[in-house]
Amino acid sequence: MSESIVRVSVVGASGRMGSAACRAVEGAEGMELVGRFDAGDDLGDLAGADVVVEFSVPEASPANVAHCVERGIHVVVGTTGWTPERLASLEEQMSRHDGVGVLIAPNFAIGAILMMSFARQAARFYESVEVVELHHPDKVDAPSGTAARTAEIIGAARDEAGLPASPDATTQDPDGARGAQVHGVSVHSVRLRGMVAHQEVLFGGEGETLTVRHDSFDRTSFMPGVLEGVRGVASHPGVTVGLENYLQM
Ligand code: NAD
Repeated sequence: MSESIVRVSVVGASGRMGSAACRAVEGAEGMELVGRFDAGDDLGDLAGADVVVEFSVPEASPANVAHCVERGIHVVVGTTGWTPERLASLEEQMSRHDGVGVLIAPNFAIGAILMMSFARQAARFYESVEVVELHHPDKVDAPSGTAARTAEIIGAARDEAGLPASPDATTQDPDGARGAQVHGVSVHSVRLRGMVAHQEVLFGGEGETLTVRHDSFDRTSFMPGVLEGVRGVASHPGVTVGLENYLQM
């Protein structure tokens, strides 16, 4: 990577997030936008980029990331759909490319990262928990990557505390009619015009509830986190899941 200027290419550059990322990189100190790539483009050497920002579609993202890693280019990935199988395959490839960093972040908004952190804190105090995620109707995946990650974090915190899966979710709703079961947590997906990206984590106890809520009203909310990822990825070799691993929390 050059001494002062980080050369950045964006893959998925014509999309909603990709175009916002292009604008953010263009306006950032110490970065230069060197390439914009979208579906059907030959990625080649990614216009000589040091770091690629990848916001495409879940089916395309693993191949795009693999292309970058093969060429020793660091990648900041915002695309969702990184199943354990896809991650395992990437990790296997990365074992042959020492020093390359890949950050996979289901949510770049700082408030969303704090929401997940607060949810982790609360998880061990409440047996009853559900997640509601609300997005614009064009969102292709459900539940959202953030909701899946939140459920995973809550599930891990509950396991650590020795709590069973949320009892209301599993015993009262065996067919999952009230939402998808993710790591033993019910996740409800709402798709509604006017929404951008929103999430509530609801905890219930005796005579009380606790709600942790985050709202992204505009895609610019993700951009400080994307730029943080671009700045940090070269010094975090290997695969990192979650921007929280780059932040002092
Ligand atoms: P979008 O549909 O607006 O844009 C996707 C872009 O990817 C399109 O321009 C499309 O042409 C392009 N594309 C399709 N196939 C491609 C390929 N093979 N190679 C390169 N580009 C290709 O979608 P969006 O709203 O910008 O969201 C993109 C992804 O980012 C989704 O997975 C979404 O869930 C995720 N997302 C992540 C965050 C986050 O903070 N991590 C926030 C919002 C959205």
